[in-house]
Amino acid sequence: MLMKSPVKKAEKSTQPLLVIGTVAVDSVETPFGKREECFGGSASYFSYSASFFTPVRLVAVVGKDFPGQYRKVLEERNINLEGLQVHPTGKTFRWKGKYDFDLNNAQTLETHLNVLLEFDPVVKGGDQVDFLFLANFDPALQMKVLKQVDRPRVKLAALDTMNFWIQNKPKDLKAVIEHVDLIVLNDGETRQLTGENNLIKAARKIREMGPDIIVVKKGEHGVLLFFRDQFFVLPAFPLESVFDPTGAGDTFAGGMMGYISKQGTVTFDTLKKAVAYGSVMASFAVEKFSLDRLRELKQADIEERLAEFRALTKF
Ligand code: AMP
Repeated sequence: MLMKSPVKKAEKSTQPLLVIGTVAVDSVETPFGKREECFGGSASYFSYSASFFTPVRLVAVVGKDFPGQYRKVLEERNINLEGLQVHPTGKTFRWKGKYDFDLNNAQTLETHLNVLLEFDPVVKGGDQVDFLFLANFDPALQMKVLKQVDRPRVKLAALDTMNFWIQNKPKDLKAVIEHVDLIVLNDGETRQLTGENNLIKAARKIREMGPDIIVVKKGEHGVLLFFRDQFFVLPAFPLESVFDPTGAGDTFAGGMMGYISKQGTVTFDTLKKAVAYGSVMASFAVEKFSLDRLRELKQADIEERLAEFRALTKF
């Protein structure tokens, strides 16, 4: 049943945050170096980041070629991988991207959907889901997941997407947008989706499509948060060394959703703190290739950077 929940219950969730998205093998080139066949994927970055805040379970598919060492990366954060299907013959989803000197925009060089083409996501215990993140993924598959959860029970269903899907599957994407509470996009995707140049007007248009909460990421320029008629802005955490922006968006979303899920409620105050945590998590992710920097992270590093961020933005 796809009806949204009329009443958001206030008690804390005892259920893990559920994410569906890509678990991938990436090849990335930045002005500072190149990495072939490294670990990536929207659900990988998301779940790793969210796991610092709350238990996470992941639904995705990989191929038979998926390296065991990458699986171990997710296991080291105790991410529940029961929903990670392994295709017996197919190849793992692959993405190849490049960043120019300003690092704000990824240029996709190659997308190989591979095992995604036949993927039929299965959500066990769909009637137990409180917080759901449909990470960047085929919108038709995002919809399949949404249909397997008890939608009125879900306190927050959120969605991410990218230019690839806006361009290739606009109808499927609009259908799923209608049924989520929150959407997270970068500025370029926001303009592309709405045909509107001004981001405030664009957010209003997206609200008419369905979600009450719109989060617009502007790379190094920070984030805009729209919650019904309320509006909040935050800069990005200023960094001297940005190495590889891949996964920044997913890591941001992981921090944001992880924090919300831990709080158990969706208020404007929670959302503001959530985008601050998301920004802090993304600031770590871009300091090294792949998930390398996140893997070094200690819980105390997050709180320390958040305190620094707070001091920098308070006046
Ligand atoms: P971002 O956080 O936006 O930088 O996302 C980077 C990750 O998105 C990479 O690790 C890719 O594997 C993954 N990705 C790239 N293209 C797609 C796509 N079309 N659908 C789903 N995931 C993708």
